Amino acid sequence: MPDTNPDQSQFQPDSKLIEWMRDIRRTIHQYPELANEENRTQKFICEKLQELGIPFRTEGLHTGIVATIGPSTSNDSDETPCVALRADMDALPVNEKTGLSFASKFPGVMHACGHDGHMAMLLGAASMLRHTELPGKVVLLFQPAEESGEGAEDGPAFHYAFLLPAARVPRPARTVTPPAISGATPRSPWSEMVTTPSQSG
Ligand SMILES: [Zn+2]
Repeated sequence: MPDTNPDQSQFQPDSKLIEWMRDIRRTIHQYPELANEENRTQKFICEKLQELGIPFRTEGLHTGIVATIGPSTSNDSDETPCVALRADMDALPVNEKTGLSFASKFPGVMHACGHDGHMAMLLGAASMLRHTELPGKVVLLFQPAEESGEGAEDGPAFHYAFLLPAARVPRPARTVTPPAISGATPRSPWSEMVTTPSQSG
């Protein structure tokens, strides 16, 4: 069986790429936007994806973006192996007092949760992966409104986020009626279907 693992050495970022990512992170840091208001951020990310020659779409995704490296399909019966890499986009209602040269230019709003870094890292990964021969495709998810918990709600972004074509995604109720036992904790229907590695704050 052929070895489909890409050469690891091609995943070492060079200093030029690191500088490119740092500039991206600092630019995004200066213009933070709250949940569902990531219009400027969306535009900036789209420009960077264009620069990389990576196709993307924003239709139906509000301020989000989904980009694809490798064979792109929009077919529900597509069986191409697929991995998703995700970055969140929104900032927090926090007043920045760091005094940094690239501090927030928007009073009362700050990338205090690291989403600026997440987006820069995802673009860095995209830059390296675009020239890699892959056994499948990589979907890049730029997800808005992580802080408000709305960015992966129903809609195409939601379905992409779980890497399942819309037709195959069961649609559980958002809440489960708790059993009539005092002190019982209601369970999320998703808890049985997906594993959340960790909660980003
Ligand atoms: Zn966060």
